[in-house]
Amino acid sequence: MSDVMIELSGLSKSFGSLEVLRDIDLQVERGEVVCVIGPSGSGKSTLLRCVNLLEVPSAGKVSVDGTELTDPDTDLDGARRHVGMVFQQFNLFSHLSVLENLTVAQRKVLGRSKEESEKVAKENLDKVGLSEKADSMPAQLSGGQQQRVAIARALSMNPHVMLFDEPTSALDPELVGDVLGVMRQLADEGMTMLVVTHEMQFAREVADRVLFMDGGGIIEQGPPAEVIGNPKEERTRTFLARVL
Ligand code: ADP
Ligand code: MG
Repeated sequence: MSDVMIELSGLSKSFGSLEVLRDIDLQVERGEVVCVIGPSGSGKSTLLRCVNLLEVPSAGKVSVDGTELTDPDTDLDGARRHVGMVFQQFNLFSHLSVLENLTVAQRKVLGRSKEESEKVAKENLDKVGLSEKADSMPAQLSGGQQQRVAIARALSMNPHVMLFDEPTSALDPELVGDVLGVMRQLADEGMTMLVVTHEMQFAREVADRVLFMDGGGIIEQGPPAEVIGNPKEERTRTFLARVL
């Protein structure tokens, strides 16, 4: 087993004539938590979406846990199973109960039995503190609870990596803490995580490394105490002055 969990090399992405990612090189180690910060439009979501090939790169390579996803011979659906993703909008199936939200992909994609998938689902609901909501419908839950269900759903696929794209940005402030708490617990358990966030306190406390992106490139990266606490680049300072 390699110690590199996510490897991006020479990654570029354009939409028509708009170059959104420019020649990005990034290695995320097994168990590492990397927070990505930067202004709106800097390419953070596109970077995340390239990791599981939701966006197809214009150039470069993407590998996850030793499998190159950009290799045309790779079984993409198989490789994607190892990459969990949580979005700003929770994207739960509104017509399915919480438990069904957690079992449907396990059964369809992983071929697990009803019993097995429900067992895994309940373990993960317990982990995010929502055991008692198994039979609820998503609309009956708060935004923070829905986001925790979305995290439990991703975890039920036993991902090797978790990608979070501004998971708390759509939440009322009083609900943010519970979601960040679940993410912090995952980090403590050794999950490899790539997290786009504006929660600087979370980044400071939980990230092993912070990346500052601007204009489709990584401008600065390092331990949070350096990148957030004592940034070297003018662009990082300007950004932080606006968000802190
Ligand atoms: P961020 O997440 O940092 O706000 P994004 O990765 O969402 O940035 O977007 C980076 C740039 O790419 C923006 O200019 C955005 O408008 C553009 N972009 C993103 N997705 C698409 C798309 N599917 N088609 C065209 N342009 C896009
Ligand atoms: Mg974004």
